[in-house]
Amino acid sequence: MKDTAQKTQWSKRTRAVHAGTRRSQYGELSEAMFLTQGFVYPTAEAAEQRFIESGPDEFIYARYGNPTVAMFEDRIAALEGAEAAFATASGMAAVNGALVSMLRAGDHVVSSRALFGSCHYILDEVLTRYGVEVTFVDGTNLDEWRAAVSADTKAVFFESLSNPTLELIDIPAVAEIAHAVGATVICDNVFATPVFSDAIAQGVDVVVYSATKHIDGQGRCLGGVILGTEQYIRKTVEPYLKHTGGAMSPFNAWVMLKSLETMDLRVRAQAASAVAVAEALDGVEGLARVIFPGLASHPQHALAEQLMEQPGTMVALEVTGGQAGAFRFLNALEIVKISNNLGDAKSIATHPATTTHQRLSDEQRAEAGISSGLVRLSIGLEDPADLIADLKGALAQV
Ligand SMILES: *Cc1c(COP(=O)(O)O)cnc(C)c1O
Repeated sequence: MKDTAQKTQWSKRTRAVHAGTRRSQYGELSEAMFLTQGFVYPTAEAAEQRFIESGPDEFIYARYGNPTVAMFEDRIAALEGAEAAFATASGMAAVNGALVSMLRAGDHVVSSRALFGSCHYILDEVLTRYGVEVTFVDGTNLDEWRAAVSADTKAVFFESLSNPTLELIDIPAVAEIAHAVGATVICDNVFATPVFSDAIAQGVDVVVYSATKHIDGQGRCLGGVILGTEQYIRKTVEPYLKHTGGAMSPFNAWVMLKSLETMDLRVRAQAASAVAVAEALDGVEGLARVIFPGLASHPQHALAEQLMEQPGTMVALEVTGGQAGAFRFLNALEIVKISNNLGDAKSIATHPATTTHQRLSDEQRAEAGISSGLVRLSIGLEDPADLIADLKGALAQV
């Protein structure tokens, strides 16, 4: 049975543990994993009826929905203050589904330029192939947003805290500009995390997460989720995703569901260590710059304090000596792993110019602020003193 009570008076931490729980006839305490793609109907008439209209606790096929996946969707929707959610196979299935399900040829989209490589691919190569016009702007410049939107603009897209340069979007101001022309505001909120961000309350219509990152938080499963109004999720996103096959697997949904229970603790510990690391590395030899929204030197420090409860778990470093300097630094790390996940319990260092953002042209990388010396750090759950020692030791090799 689904626990339908809307416990909106509960804090986010409590919702992350309890919201959306469905119990079988056995009354299990921990959420059950329904590793089934199909469902059995008592009669042919009941099957026919369910295909006409499924009730709130009735399922047809796991590509459309599954009890474990539904628990994850209900829990994250409650956490975000969204009316509804659709879980997807990966973060990119969520970004693609959120955009493609609502756009048609002739529509116009305005997007911030500072984007994860695969998000850039969808906007720059996929949407344009089907006749959607896309205008890229400097997301930090409100005049560029104002100049770019028009009556044809159906959606605006941005990463609230950009990958990897940690630029912030002034969400309430951009939402106001978009809503003035009737556009839907779609926000990739991965770096801001569900713990520290309140994007929907700040004016966003649709929030997208890669659950692969802080939601799993332990590097095990791919997943994603689209959050929005009941109307948008049920009438726009669901028909597109259930027929095109981007559904989340029940096993992955179970991992994500259990991970939501510990997400607040994990992300707060990671964020506290990120502050410690950014402060300890600021001004250290071998670094031209430490980019972290929590440092007073970040150009949008005040905006970060206004929009996010804490400045997040990611730190970017501008290592001296370009790519050679960055590679010497990466190769000297012992605890921090060279990889490209983020939000993980294990601290990770990434060289965006040669990996996650390799497919951009030199010009696009320069526009996005991704220099050859830039290293992205995802701070994990290790002792921050050990991390600082590892990072400083590696910087001494630069
Ligand atoms: C990782 C990431 C994605 C894609 O998520 P996957 O789960 O890897 O498909 C999208 N946007 C941002 C900002 C990301 O960091």
